[in-house]
Amino acid sequence: MKLILLGPPGAGKGTQCKRIIDKYNMKHLSSGDILRAERTAGTELGSKAQSYMDSGALVPDDIIINMMAGAMKKESGGYVLDGFPRTVAQGEGLDKALADAGEKVDGIVNLIVDDKVISARLTGRRSCPKCGAVYHVENLKPETEGVCDNGCGQLAQREDDKPEVVDNRLKTYHEQTAAVVGYYESKGNMIINIKADAAIDDITASIFAELDKLDYQVS
Ligand code: AMP
Repeated sequence: MKLILLGPPGAGKGTQCKRIIDKYNMKHLSSGDILRAERTAGTELGSKAQSYMDSGALVPDDIIINMMAGAMKKESGGYVLDGFPRTVAQGEGLDKALADAGEKVDGIVNLIVDDKVISARLTGRRSCPKCGAVYHVENLKPETEGVCDNGCGQLAQREDDKPEVVDNRLKTYHEQTAAVVGYYESKGNMIINIKADAAIDDITASIFAELDKLDYQVS
């Protein structure tokens, strides 16, 4: 099964993807995670992406389409695309890459959340630079303020979770990414819309209920 998970930054795509891949035995292909790994590894791609990411802008389409087409090619089974496509041009690039491989998207899940809820979620998010554990200053506090529960040390705020960057990421979402839903609708794809301002477990249950209805073969 090949899925696309759409939704604004902070909609909980990463969290829900982890649950989806566990249940349906799929791989998680997150464009943001791949870019962050490239940055950490100090690659040319990582350094090209850095200034866009730090300001909340989108990395250029050609870079992203190549990067994701490469990641998808390595997967012989199912995967969930998270954070990609983020523009109509990326959607077209994705469709071409899939068509070239004789494949197609089996489902598109669109998480819907209010900007205000997103702002509070993202600006309060803290993560551990060592183990990747994610916390929130109000909703998911570590045992000791500012310190990872796994004994790794100080938590950090992602550069792009700072308030002015979050505003910019939301603006970018409304200006460039929201149109991706319309793009797939105009092609006749069915979109599974899920209200994602509920409790995390309830959102997961709604997603699973819809995905269970899809007719697909686990490969
Ligand atoms: P994310 O973790 O998905 O919120 O992505 C973090 C940042 O990586 C975004 O704000 C963009 O700068 C960049 N990024 C991730 N995915 C894409 C994409 N599909 N197209 C362009 N830029 C992206």
